[in-house]
Amino acid sequence: MVHEGLDSARQGIRLAALAAGRDPGSVTLIAVSKTFGPAEIRPVIAGGQRIFGENRVQEAKAKWPELRLATPDLELHLIGPLQSNKVAEAVSLFDVIHTVDRPKIAGAIATEMRRQDRRIDVFVQVNTGGEPQKAGVDPAGADFFLRQCREEFGLPIVGLMCIPPFDQDPLPHFGQLREIAQRNGLTKLSMGMSGDYATAISCGATHVRIGSAIFGHRPVGGRPGPR
Ligand SMILES: *Cc1c(COP(=O)(O)O)cnc(C)c1O
Repeated sequence: MVHEGLDSARQGIRLAALAAGRDPGSVTLIAVSKTFGPAEIRPVIAGGQRIFGENRVQEAKAKWPELRLATPDLELHLIGPLQSNKVAEAVSLFDVIHTVDRPKIAGAIATEMRRQDRRIDVFVQVNTGGEPQKAGVDPAGADFFLRQCREEFGLPIVGLMCIPPFDQDPLPHFGQLREIAQRNGLTKLSMGMSGDYATAISCGATHVRIGSAIFGHRPVGGRPGPR
């Protein structure tokens, strides 16, 4: 089944990768389904998409177990902030967490992975814009935090994630994320959304998180609409 939004995102990724001299297969599309319900998600699954992103643990817990029963090979990524009282649920529900940014959460994830005998991939979020209201470790403290995650907690960090400030050119932010990753031996970069994924791909993004370009505009206020 053809899903128009999904197909245009896939095509956009392909073209951006080719323009950057990259293999389109080196870019993983995460379809960000936050605020959308099963009725909107099922056609995207039918279109062949298997990797989805959610930003709230509770919302994901309400939506995904049923969808997963019907399609067991789905992969679910947490792309929103994580509170310590949700870590156990997050580790059992998600396959990848993109938003580790402080020792308390890093330690709790490591502990839960041992307790649940489950290994998931983890990205560290970097606040490249240094925005006080935004999650993510400070760029100047990233190297230290990464070492702490690995040595103190034994956490399997696979890459870095960022959300550039809305009102700025994202290019230097993507470049900075890549630089921090390179000097820390990390190969995965979670960066790029509907409005800037082509730029992110030109800077080396391996994971793009695309919502509205696939699903359409989210309801005002970001809450799920009635259905
Ligand atoms: C919502 C969200 C996205 C997707 O944003 P779009 O502009 O709809 O593509 C990507 N990353 C994060 C962290 C988000 O919260």
